[in-house]
Amino acid sequence: MTTSNPGVYRTKIGDIAITALNDGMFEAGTGVLVGITPDDAERLEVAHFRALPPRITISAFLVEIGAKKILIDAGSANAFGPAHGFMRKGLASLGIAPGEISTVLLTHAHIDHASGLIDDAGAAYFPNAELILNAAEAEFWLNADIAAAAPDAAKDSFALAVRCLTPYRERTRQVKHGEVVMPGVMVQHLPGHTPGHTGWILASGDDSLLVWGDVVHLPGIQFTNPDAGMVFDTDADLARVSRRKTFDMAATDRLRVAGMHLDFPCFGHVAKAAQGYAFVPDVWLA
Ligand SMILES: [Zn+2]
Repeated sequence: MTTSNPGVYRTKIGDIAITALNDGMFEAGTGVLVGITPDDAERLEVAHFRALPPRITISAFLVEIGAKKILIDAGSANAFGPAHGFMRKGLASLGIAPGEISTVLLTHAHIDHASGLIDDAGAAYFPNAELILNAAEAEFWLNADIAAAAPDAAKDSFALAVRCLTPYRERTRQVKHGEVVMPGVMVQHLPGHTPGHTGWILASGDDSLLVWGDVVHLPGIQFTNPDAGMVFDTDADLARVSRRKTFDMAATDRLRVAGMHLDFPCFGHVAKAAQGYAFVPDVWLA
């Protein structure tokens, strides 16, 4: 499947500009879910007028703070074939060359977020970018002992993380929860999906936004049932706790959120609902 739209959407957080860059979409069977029966998952998808099998979209974000051009995640590049990797085209359509990216903030080192860090030869796709990620993420994926003890099904994920992170080794900054990594950008550790899975809070003036990475993969299911997790979660129970806490915080504080697997253009609010929560997408403001 190919995309018919450019998949680029720009909005503001105070003086900060943020642009969602759609990277593609894939179909995922209900077998990717844990903590919910396939029947219940399908029922929720149908109730929310969504396709079966469920579809997971991928996006990354460009953040412009002053003259700095920052990416949050790098998309899937060619890891999923020709129907993905569109965020690079989105970036090019904005007239931005990879060499202009000063920083990549990584939510976590999974294939659909980190593959775009490298080119086909395995070199850094962003030759001038500092890579910033949670110390817990680097310590997990780059630890040879943990990789050796991982089940066979997870071994590829470790190899991929090593391949994508290594070219940035000399210009990687490892950060911790609550740290302000640059003016307007703070670390929000949301562990569970991976050990160092991290949201990035952008703040400017009275405005703020939480870019929450993979708190949600399937909006038609997980807002109503936050206990539904993914087989890709390193610790599904902890991911569930993080999801519930994040939903509650976003709803209580009326905090604007963005997510890599929310429906494009990926911005909105979380509201408490009769059953679980509901996602309220931003309305179009020309
Ligand atoms: Zn993901």
